[in-house]
Amino acid sequence: ATFDELGLCNVVLKILKRVHFRSPSDVQSTCIPQILAGKDVIGIANTGSGKTAAFALPIVDMLSRDPYGIFALCLSPTRELANQIADQFTVFGAGTGLNCMVITGGEDLIQQATALSRRPNIVVATPGRLFEHFMHSSNTVQYFSKLKCLILDEADRLLDSSFAAELKYLMSNLPQQRQTLMFSATITKSVTALQSMLGDAVFYYED
Ligand code: AMP
Repeated sequence: ATFDELGLCNVVLKILKRVHFRSPSDVQSTCIPQILAGKDVIGIANTGSGKTAAFALPIVDMLSRDPYGIFALCLSPTRELANQIADQFTVFGAGTGLNCMVITGGEDLIQQATALSRRPNIVVATPGRLFEHFMHSSNTVQYFSKLKCLILDEADRLLDSSFAAELKYLMSNLPQQRQTLMFSATITKSVTALQSMLGDAVFYYED
């Protein structure tokens, strides 16, 4: 397949030319059209498969059509990974006015809360620090009221981490009418449990 065949708008296709992405990887050609169609997606794919772009590109695409409110929240198991994901969103969203912020520990909580109150389009967060925001201020729920898409990146690591309880809290306190995208390197028991909660999600498996 080519990127042109996946349903992405011209704004995004131009960005792909600029960053020299010539053809989509397998996870991208399978997942991008499904994500654009609003489906929940579970992708079993490793780092290096292009999974970050597989969710970041359709989200930038959807945002360029409807830039109102907080749109997507991506949860990541580590600070480093969260920053790498935010960097990719920033590259793909260049020139679209996309506003992406990172919420991880080690940074000032109040400054993050102020940035959150300005309702960025994309929040990339580690579950521990985001949970702290929910505990710190009742406004946090409000900031996420327009959430349309929740992404769990490296879901196996997220679900089996010491932040599993915080993650569970976040999942049930975020708007339930949402698209959920889940990427994992392995199929663990907790990934399967989450899969059963998602019902008719599209399942992509890469050997
Ligand atoms: P990931 O699997 O998301 O960690 O991505 C691995 C690396 O591949 C990243 O540096 C991406 O920028 C790059 N990449 C992802 N998709 C493509 C593509 N279709 N063409 C060229 N490079 C890509």
